[in-house]
Amino acid sequence: MKNIPNVYDAEPIPAPAMQEIERILSSGDLFRYTSENSPVALLETEFAKTLGSTYALAVSSCSAALFLSLKSLGLPRDAKVLIPAFTFGAVPSAVVHADCVPVLCECQNNYRIDIDDFAAKLPQVQAVIVSHMRGHTSDMDAIMALCDEAQVPVVEDAAHSLGTVWDGRNIGTIGKIGCFSFQSYKLLNAGEGGIMITDDPDLIARAVIMSGAYEHNWKKHPVLSTAFDKWQNKLPLYNQRMNTLSAAIIRPQLTELPRRVADGRRNHDHVAERLHQSPWFDVPKKLAKEIRAPDSIQFNLAGLNDDEVSLFVNAAATAGINVQVFGTSKDNARAFWNWKFLGEPPELPQTKAMLMRACDVRLPARLSIEDCDVISEALITAMYRVMQPATAYGT
Ligand SMILES: *Cc1c(COP(=O)(O)O)cnc(C)c1O
Repeated sequence: MKNIPNVYDAEPIPAPAMQEIERILSSGDLFRYTSENSPVALLETEFAKTLGSTYALAVSSCSAALFLSLKSLGLPRDAKVLIPAFTFGAVPSAVVHADCVPVLCECQNNYRIDIDDFAAKLPQVQAVIVSHMRGHTSDMDAIMALCDEAQVPVVEDAAHSLGTVWDGRNIGTIGKIGCFSFQSYKLLNAGEGGIMITDDPDLIARAVIMSGAYEHNWKKHPVLSTAFDKWQNKLPLYNQRMNTLSAAIIRPQLTELPRRVADGRRNHDHVAERLHQSPWFDVPKKLAKEIRAPDSIQFNLAGLNDDEVSLFVNAAATAGINVQVFGTSKDNARAFWNWKFLGEPPELPQTKAMLMRACDVRLPARLSIEDCDVISEALITAMYRVMQPATAYGT
């Protein structure tokens, strides 16, 4: 058997980060508000420019960005927030943290929001978080049309969608606010970190203050001071700032982004094409207006019963590939019924059925096409061993 590539290792951090970190460590300047041109402020300017938005605020995680987004929207206590039922547990958690109540809407077999269920539940809610889960973009035209009509603000959880484009627009710039993650498994890796972007000066002013720009530290943000004057001393300080070292690690990765996006897409599309040759793998197609930036692949197991699903997962594991079925892997944080902190799970049969067959395999941009072939072969062989053992023994 060929060597199975390691899909968990990260890429090295570009060399310029080392020099900058040495400079920071020798000056001890780790707090973003000590100096005017902190690496955190520079990252905000560069990130906003890269995405094409007016303002950015770097924080401690994407979860913090989601929390601050809801807080800066000024939602009252117990406001309902619509989120997709297929998302990461951090998303309903951010809603709870902001003293709001998540309402879960159904997702489809292609991992995207079910627009009919979304439209049906929209009248109950005061805000929406669209989670572009694993980089799968929901129909943003339909979502924005419905939300604009209902005057409900949209926050995009683009944690896993950096570099994705919808109809010529960067994901994260379509809703009122876009939130991104710099956690190690995302496209830009600082270990931990997050950032939010918006074109709304009043909203960013509130988020900046609540993120911990106490006293007049907001003066170190290049945003209209009139927006800040209005909110001085009127908002709580949640202290979710980014540390300068994190910004120094992220900044030199920004120029790597186009390459990572292109290579990740190449790897994904290559494996998708190989898997499609087997009748038991269904890799949902992208939507027409979407240009994707994947760093993993998701596919549904078609025509397998529960036993066959677990036999396939075991056969893949024996071959050295970790396949995670969202709904069957123990305590999976992306299965809504495991979010017990919300109380009794709602009835969402469509999303549940999808999660019981939907597989997740990491496919980082640094893998070569040969690596991707090894992974595809191993998955296809594992499937034959389960579904057509007579054929598999020859391979
Ligand atoms: C990773 C992720 C998050 C959380 O990001 P953190 O920076 O770890 O808080 C939220 N939503 C999605 C879709 C993610 O993939």
